[in-house]
This record gives sequence, C-alpha cells and structure tokens, in this order.
Amino acid sequence: MSNRKSSKAKKSNPKYIFVVGGVMSGVGKGITTSSMGLILQSRGFNVTAVKIDPYVNVDAGTMNPLEHGETFVLADGLECDQDMGNYERFLDTQLTRTNYMTTGSIYLSVIEQERALKFGGKCVSVVPHIPNEVIQRIKRAQQEQDADITIVEIGGTAGEYENLLFLDAARLLKLENPQDVLFVLVSYLPIPNKIGEMKTKPTQHASRLLNSAGIQADMIIARSTHALDEIRKQKLSVMCNVSVDDVISAPDVDSIYHVPINFEDDNVSTKILKKLDLRPRKRDLKEWTSFTQKIDAANKEVKIGIVGKYFSSGNFVLSDAYISVIEAIKHASYFYRIKPVIDWIDSADFENDPKKVSTLKQYDGIIIPGGFGERGVEGKLKVIQYIRENKIPYLGLCYGMQLAVVEFARNVAKIKNAHTAEIDPKTSDPVIHIMPGQDTNIEQGSMGATMRLGEYVCDITPKTLTRKLYNSAQVQERHRHRYEVNNTYREELEKAGLTIAGVNPDNDLVEIIEIPKHPFFIGTQFHPELLSHPTNPHPLFKGFIKACHKK
Ligand code: GLN
Repeated sequence: MSNRKSSKAKKSNPKYIFVVGGVMSGVGKGITTSSMGLILQSRGFNVTAVKIDPYVNVDAGTMNPLEHGETFVLADGLECDQDMGNYERFLDTQLTRTNYMTTGSIYLSVIEQERALKFGGKCVSVVPHIPNEVIQRIKRAQQEQDADITIVEIGGTAGEYENLLFLDAARLLKLENPQDVLFVLVSYLPIPNKIGEMKTKPTQHASRLLNSAGIQADMIIARSTHALDEIRKQKLSVMCNVSVDDVISAPDVDSIYHVPINFEDDNVSTKILKKLDLRPRKRDLKEWTSFTQKIDAANKEVKIGIVGKYFSSGNFVLSDAYISVIEAIKHASYFYRIKPVIDWIDSADFENDPKKVSTLKQYDGIIIPGGFGERGVEGKLKVIQYIRENKIPYLGLCYGMQLAVVEFARNVAKIKNAHTAEIDPKTSDPVIHIMPGQDTNIEQGSMGATMRLGEYVCDITPKTLTRKLYNSAQVQERHRHRYEVNNTYREELEKAGLTIAGVNPDNDLVEIIEIPKHPFFIGTQFHPELLSHPTNPHPLFKGFIKACHKK
C-alpha cells in the first residue's frame, strides 16, 4: 500500500490506464507510467501500477541482466522487471507479485487451472482464456491495492506479435467498461542527423498499428531529444486521431525525476482525470518538488566507481543491469545536494593488468554490486584489497559482500585457500558456502525462483557503524542469493578484525559485515538498493555518500 495517503472521497468505478509503446523500446514507458502514477497520486487518488512483460520466462529471475536489465525483487520474493522498481520508487509503495505478469506466468496459470479441471471440461483456447486471465490478474492487482486508478504498462511496442494478446485483453476491458479505460501511447520521434528535422511518420504508423488491434490512443506522449513544436502536434493530432491538447511533448531530461513536474506543466493529470470522469482534488507535489529542487541545487560532486561485469552490449555500454544501485546512489547524493559522477569499471581489466588497481585512487568510493559466476571475480578481489588497504569507502552488495569476506579471509585472516564455493566448490576453505537445500536445487536443475528471495529480518549489532546509520536494532531487507557466509569461519574472521554487524535471527545467517578503522567498509548480504526511494534515501547509501564526500 502506498505510504502517501489519499484523502478518500466517494468511490467511483476502478479506472485503468494502459501505457503502450510505439516505434521502439527503451523510450520511457516505465518512467511515463511511474510519473503518471505520481501525478495522479498527488491529486488524492490511490494509484497502483502493473507491468506486463511479453516474455515466455515465468519471471525475470532466469534472464541475463545484459539482455533484460536488472532483476528487481519484491518484498514477497518475486523476481521481476526493473520497471517495478521505478513504480515502487515513484509511488513510494510496496507492490506484490500480482502486479507483474509475463506470457509465461499467464499460460502457466491457465494450464494449472486446466489440470485442476477448473474449466469444467470445456475446450481451453488461447482466446478468450488467455486475455481473460490477464484481465483477472489486472483486476486482482486493483483490488489488492484498493486502487482508484491502475496503470498497466504493456512491454514491447505496438505491432509486435508477442504482445498482441495483452493488447487484446486491454481492448476487451475497454469494451466492458468504456468510461473507465484509457490508452496512452508512448512513442518516439526521431530527428535523423542528415535530415535535421523531427519526423512524425513512425508514430503515425504506431498509432495505426494500435488501431488495427482495435485500440485508439487517448493521449500520445511524444518522446524525442527535443520538444515537439505546434506543427508536429497538429500533424500527430490529425493523423493519429488524438486532440492536439492530448499530444504531450516529452523531450529528453537530465533527470527522470523531473518528468512528473514536466507532465504537470502540461496539465497531464487534469486532462487524464477529466477523461476518466474523476473530480481532481488539490494537487500536492510538495515533497517531490523539494526533492527535485535538491537535484537542481546540487553543487558538489562525488566520484563513484561501480565494479561489475554486466556493462557491455556489443559496442555500447549499458548500465541497466545496476539501475537500482544507480538510483540509490542518486537519492542519497541529492539528499546532501551532491551530484554523483558514476564510472563503470570492468573487473576483468584488473586481471589482465593487476597494476591498474592504483587507478582506483581517483574515486571517492567504490561499489561492488550483486553478481553471479566466475568471470571477473579475481579482478574484484584485487579491487577490494586495494580499497581496503588504501581506505577508499566501500559498499559491497550481496556478491560484493561475499567477495569482501573472501578477500579479508585470504589477506588479513591468512586463510590461504579461502574462496566462495560458487567459484571453487572443492576449496578446502569455503568461507562462503552454499545455503542448505540450494545444492539440491542446483543438482535438480530447479533454478527458477529457488534462491533465498524477498524480505527477511536482520538484527543489527549494537555499537557498529551500521547500527548508527540505521538508527534501529532490527530491519527488513530484500534478498536474492544461494550462498552465504560460512559460520564455521565466523570466529576466526572476527578475531582477525571483521565485525559482524547484522545477523538473521532465525537461522543465524550473517547479513552485514563491517571493517572498523576504515572510513567506510560495509558489505550486505541483502540488496539495500531495492528499498531506496527518492524522498527517502537508504541509510546505508546515505552513510556511504557522506563518507565519499568526506574523502
Ligand atoms: N552469486 C551470489 C549468490 O548466489 C550472490 C548473488 C547476488 O549478488 N545477488 O549467493
């Protein structure tokens, strides 16, 4: 449920807004959905958001981050698309697994019902059973969150074979409730270099493709590098059958967090509420505006290095795999009116040229985020040793924490063969070992949704930096891992100077480590980045950024 309370007036029918894409992916459907949610929330409505991914994967847990971006984890343990993180961040809310679906999950559920004879002997068909299941899921999300307005983002773009059934579900929902369903097309207007003019034609085609699926857009969010001029607004209006007022110019912005404010400069919430026949209440965007003012006022810099391996995509560098980490850095930095400058560092570089670690001096802080597998691990260990010895602030997230324990064990506690069993299952000193039951999962090839996932409790050790930062004796954080610190080595590591700063009380699992006498060296088994919100940055990230700034 959203932490932002809505002042309840008389309930009207639940309303639905479908956000669909045109021309190409990656132009900001997720940010549009999140921003619309925020501005509608700011008018006093309860808003929730649903993401539909057209993949056959049942969830996002089995997708490579290089292909699909970050796997976000919900409190209930669902591994899902990174857009769910945007929704939670913008709406300051906690979503559940009902708010996410893929083609795979929809088919799975229909097939399970068929196996349980739930269709009473009928022939189960793609149409209507699949769109019906989609509609049921959307309605359930609306009910669970008691939402006045449910915004549903359909992944992919109009015209793709893969999302046709979802568009059909949207069409049918509109047919059933014509007054309560809206369609927003987020489309891209290219400005080809050689031509130098903004072209509307691809968006015209996208709108026609939607029409051929039986859908008419009610509003077009016109994404481009530049603002849309009147001529092009008119043209899109005539060619796409949308009123000029409902063609919204959405040029590139420095920060995604400005998008809701830009929408409101164009009165988007008022326009939508009018279409949905909902009476707008007084706008309250104070908290958000004061956050964006801090972004604008940022006048200091910190330079942060993120050491990972999910960066390169052919000739291009992608940072999507670490999106929540990046946003958490931003939230904490803006809190102090600091502008973070983030560099991507490929850990494999330090394996080829170990002397290169000294280039890390230039950073005010280093983060090693979550990860899996062998590639780049020895490079990461070299990085950790360098920054531990040279007192550069360090935040290790999940794998980044496990590897910090390996490095400490090898170089400080002098446990020569220390390693994580993930890389070397036969090591004589598995300081990080597999969690009970996970070996069977791996042996049986049961890899989907079987990690330790979602929210778990963590007791924070008194008199630690972590305790000071959280200012709390117990916290709940989100997890995604199969390996853990091996308690057999705990005493030896503590004797050598490692602090165990947080433990799960139910199974005595080490959740947080610290190295004292260091400006900032904290590693967490969980992913604090998943709980950082723009107007409520995560305490560990705040502590890290503060330490970076001091440096
Ligand atoms: N590969 C490690 C594990 O499975 C860390 C996972 C992560 O960083 N999310 O335990």
